[in-house]
Amino acid sequence: MKLIDNLLSMFYPRLCAGCGDALQRHEECLCLHCQLHLPETQFYKEKDNPLKLIFAGRVKVEEVAALLYYKKGTATQHILHNLKYNGQKELGDFLGNYFGRKLALEPRFQDVDTIIPIPLHPRKERKRGYNQSEWIAKGLSRGMGIPYRTDVLTRTHFTETQTRKSRFNRWENVKEVFQVQNGAEVKGQHLLVCDDVLTTGATMEAAIRQLLEIEGVRVSVVTLATATH
Ligand SMILES: [Zn+2]
Repeated sequence: MKLIDNLLSMFYPRLCAGCGDALQRHEECLCLHCQLHLPETQFYKEKDNPLKLIFAGRVKVEEVAALLYYKKGTATQHILHNLKYNGQKELGDFLGNYFGRKLALEPRFQDVDTIIPIPLHPRKERKRGYNQSEWIAKGLSRGMGIPYRTDVLTRTHFTETQTRKSRFNRWENVKEVFQVQNGAEVKGQHLLVCDDVLTTGATMEAAIRQLLEIEGVRVSVVTLATATH
């Protein structure tokens, strides 16, 4: 087996998603160096962290946290790019699990009942072959020992031009994008919405607003990365 493994890795080396170096046999997704030097925010330990301000005065959220700082040219940028555009969905599971094990130790996240990934538009998902947020949810679910559901929050309209619009227009554009199904099954729960990256929060806000329509629901947010420092 070892010989076959070695031969395979000679022709098809598995590469680190952070730096692109070849992975050692025992390494998964990220090399040891990248794992030890991940630019972690530690926001999940702070009740009033800068990410919470993104939603202040806009929508009610319980807790907000992101695992990594996002900056151009860093390992985080390579990781997110590989997760979204290079078919490396296992990265979402890997980092979701890593983050989930940390969150499971934080009292403020211990009463979460269900994890909800931000859905991708079906057309985009078909093209990509997967929804990266769902793979993050899968990892978080393992790490936290809490189930995730993809049948509660679904998408309606396509928002291709979103990135060219201002924050106000962007909100106009995304507000009808999400809808809730099976709401009765998560009534009264603390829901943890997850996504790959948190920027202006417009998409996340639209999703949270829909979920808050469900009776007795509280919502928290986690993402793998954030540009906010
Ligand atoms: Zn690396």
